[in-house]
Amino acid sequence: MSQADPRRSVPRTDVLLAHPDLASASARHGAGIVKAAVRAAQARARAGEIEPGDVVAAARAALPVRSTTLRPLINATGVVVHTNIGRAPLSDAAVAAVVAAAGYVDLEYDTLTGARARRGRGTLELLHAAVPGAGDALVVNNGAAALVLATTALAAGWEVVLSRGEMIEIGDGFRLPDLIASTGARLREVGTTNRTRLADYAAAVGPDTGCVLKVHPSNFRVEGFTSAASVRELASLGVPLVVDIGSGLLRHDPLLPDEPDAATALADGATVVTASGDKLLGGPQAGLVLGEADTVERLRRHPLARALRVDKLTLAALEATLRGPVVPVAAYLHANTDALLARSERLAAAVSGDVVPVEGRVGGGGAPGVPLPGWAVSLPEACAERLRGGEPGVVARVVRGRCLVDLRCVPPDRDGDVERAVLAALADEITDGA
Ligand SMILES: *Cc1c(COP(=O)(O)O)cnc(C)c1O
Repeated sequence: MSQADPRRSVPRTDVLLAHPDLASASARHGAGIVKAAVRAAQARARAGEIEPGDVVAAARAALPVRSTTLRPLINATGVVVHTNIGRAPLSDAAVAAVVAAAGYVDLEYDTLTGARARRGRGTLELLHAAVPGAGDALVVNNGAAALVLATTALAAGWEVVLSRGEMIEIGDGFRLPDLIASTGARLREVGTTNRTRLADYAAAVGPDTGCVLKVHPSNFRVEGFTSAASVRELASLGVPLVVDIGSGLLRHDPLLPDEPDAATALADGATVVTASGDKLLGGPQAGLVLGEADTVERLRRHPLARALRVDKLTLAALEATLRGPVVPVAAYLHANTDALLARSERLAAAVSGDVVPVEGRVGGGGAPGVPLPGWAVSLPEACAERLRGGEPGVVARVVRGRCLVDLRCVPPDRDGDVERAVLAALADEITDGA
């Protein structure tokens, strides 16, 4: 009787852990997770839920697919810099650079002499080369950190003069005026929401001024009876001028005529320009500071700079981004509409959907008024949830009761994955509907 009891034939833990599949899983995930999965599978076998011979398979099935809880997603929204799904996707070159930098690297080390060297020198040289008009460059953790560092170093205990039209909230309750106030600088508001003139700044600038700050209101536009002082005008005030361009365009892009860029702001007289590395530059999350050499050096020497500095992975990804090839963000922004149409038609034919015209978006606090004309495949609304939950997850947009699959931000070599995901989502719908 006890001989036939399946509970007696449940394999022992050490035997299971030595199984090649589970041993390799231990190497990948750590022994703790695998052991827990094995114990749970043994318990199920003892309870008679599964056969003792299926314990290895059950343990394997309970293991995570990936080493982190972050789920890679395919962006079928048509929004290029989508904050909620990680802003800029890195180029293959930047990914390779991150992997290469993950081990020991000569981050602050001169292999020739064995002595200490300047941290991130290669990245800074490239950044400098990309914006020759800058006297020097500095990289911190993100755009907000760049702004905090600049206003702290130049104006803590003093006034930051800022237009009321540029007192913006960037997203998720992040308000720029609060950030500046947190540095110990006093905000000196000038002008009105829709109009601020050079004279308003001039009247406010005085012995208490630490700097004038000009912020690009990246995610909205004021239209109609408006005016703002230009960088060139503000540079005439004779006090340090910090220009937060936001999105990180280093040079002018004709596709985005109203988007400020670092080279132009510096040529117009900005003392320092701050920007994000993972918006239109298409690199890793980072804050770029470019500008007059003495001022950048002052920021670099400020104690706060140490708390805001970036790690080797960011420096590596940023350097590879600056070096080229064309980053995904730029490729998606400038996607050829005929090629998009051809891909959309192929997908529509395979899944029996309709191709409809859509407008993509830059997103991520950049160029709010610029539509990106393109195409999408229109599907029943219920597909959106199934696509999100699939493997790989595909994020589409729901507009007026339709699920729109936009291939603008899908690497062309993933079109097949999108097609399979859509077919699976449609099959689920038929099953559910039956
Ligand atoms: C996005 C943005 C920031 C903040 O940059 P992060 O990299 O998100 O920290 C600051 N200022 C402007 C104008 C922005 O658009």
